Amino acid sequence: MDTCDTPACQSAREIFRELEDYYDEHNLYFQTIGSVLQAADLLDVDHPVKLILSQPKNEIMVHCPVQMDDGTWHLIKGYRVQHNNVLGPYKGGIRFHPEIKLDEVKSLALLMTMKCALARLPFGGAKGALKIDPRALSKKEQERVTRRLTAALGGNIGPDYDIPAPDMGTNAQTMAWMADTYINFAESSKKVTARGVVTGKPLEFGGSAGREKATGQGLVYVLDALLPGMNLALPDLSFSLIGYGNVGSWTGRLLQLRGSKMKAVMDHTGAIADDAGIDAEKLAGHVAKHGGVKGYPEAEAIDEATFYSTPVDLFIPAALEQMVDLEHAERIQCKVLVEAANAPTTPQAERHLMDKGVEVLPAILCNTGGVTVSYFEWKQNRQSETWDAELVDERLQEVMHRTAKRVLEMAARLDCNMRIASFAAAIEHIAKVYGMRGVFP
Ligand code: GLU
Repeated sequence: MDTCDTPACQSAREIFRELEDYYDEHNLYFQTIGSVLQAADLLDVDHPVKLILSQPKNEIMVHCPVQMDDGTWHLIKGYRVQHNNVLGPYKGGIRFHPEIKLDEVKSLALLMTMKCALARLPFGGAKGALKIDPRALSKKEQERVTRRLTAALGGNIGPDYDIPAPDMGTNAQTMAWMADTYINFAESSKKVTARGVVTGKPLEFGGSAGREKATGQGLVYVLDALLPGMNLALPDLSFSLIGYGNVGSWTGRLLQLRGSKMKAVMDHTGAIADDAGIDAEKLAGHVAKHGGVKGYPEAEAIDEATFYSTPVDLFIPAALEQMVDLEHAERIQCKVLVEAANAPTTPQAERHLMDKGVEVLPAILCNTGGVTVSYFEWKQNRQSETWDAELVDERLQEVMHRTAKRVLEMAARLDCNMRIASFAAAIEHIAKVYGMRGVFP
């Protein structure tokens, strides 16, 4: 039974009643679209635009038969959800995860639409996934599943149509296999531009300088722009991190370079803390070797409850969605919660944190650095150019500062929190473009 009567729940419930579709207030997709619709209501966005954004344009599901090294066959489920393309080609990562579900991919695709619109990138939003545990596969098996998925997606991806990128469980190597497979199928006149089908490729194969660290780097630029307004500034801050994969470890290393102290880290293997600071570089070396933070010799092993209650200035979830729930939020002692992962905070946890005076910086603002440098890579591929690392950083900083300013202005204009302001700044832009283009036919 529905019990939620927040503006987000009310807006979403109304739209799904009109669409004669089901609605579940506990499901991440409905929670995410609820917040987007709440923002749209504050702006009086045209009703058809709200209806269009409430469902993805395409939900593609494929089943890939793949032979394992031991000769057995597995049928692996793959998804590509293309949420919206009014601003440009669909764009978003491909995730490999054993627990992935369609509604989660839908939520992440919707967030990509919002993220690209907020940063004014010429892209729509999409997300893909394969339901496998990449850690349980050999490199050869990973290559086979990746190539098979790319072939199964066929013409549903392309440099002018839908452009995947790395996400959780995938990396530059995965993108190289995807690009190679796609190029093999491409017509000869299109082979040069075909590698633009994915971003986040290795540097030597059309990747961009700065793409690997981009999400962490973008987050640091957002903090530069926003912390002074909260009477905080980067050097001398303490922080804790959930997740020490690409996004977590780069965020840790870059914040350390800026003079901040990493006090606690938790990942799927365990949690560690050191009040004097954990060396982010050394920890990255340990994680690369052992697969997780567990057993890091220069910090104390702690339990989950202690991790959440460690006092820090910045609490940074950089792992899966919905990890920070109400129980965790009750423990958290921080000034700012910085969402590096997509949708890491449940609506109840967010309300609790805000009630106790914690500022929550939403993911579509904080982690937009990744797709922004993906855009730079796509642009370099189209123009056969190679930008150096300084130029990428400079342009990324410009985009992140402008985006942060846009959110601050919207928060002041609508007198709302940063999440709703971010969605509002995104949806206002999308609604304007729908107004100009019209809705076909
Ligand atoms: N997977 C990243 C994200 O969620 C990057 C997407 C991209 O570069 O297209 O933002």
